[in-house]
Amino acid sequence: MRCPTETPQSVEILLAYVSNSLEGEQASEVAAHAAACPDCQAFTRAQNAVSQALDRWEAPPVSLDFDRQLYQRIEQEVSWWDLVLRPFRPMMGSRTLPVAAGSDQDFRDQLAFDLG
Ligand SMILES: [Zn+2]
Repeated sequence: MRCPTETPQSVEILLAYVSNSLEGEQASEVAAHAAACPDCQAFTRAQNAVSQALDRWEAPPVSLDFDRQLYQRIEQEVSWWDLVLRPFRPMMGSRTLPVAAGSDQDFRDQLAFDLG
């Protein structure tokens, strides 16, 4: 048997072996290989350590006002679209743009006034 740690596809077989979800001849074949392969032994030890750590881990309790805090944060979040449009927001829906377009005439009027 080729070592399952050599390819990502066959590592799934080793994961199945570690979680005792392999059956029959395949389970026997992987068990025989793992018994003689240092790489597979290291993999199964590490995987068992992760499994045991996860078994001992307890998720912290969810606070009673979790939903309220979550929705409050969602409302406070600014979308990327708002960030993109924010610099242009003063021009949108206001008279800034027509005034800016007319500023050239305003400048000439001001220049004519200054020059007399
Ligand atoms: Zn191996």
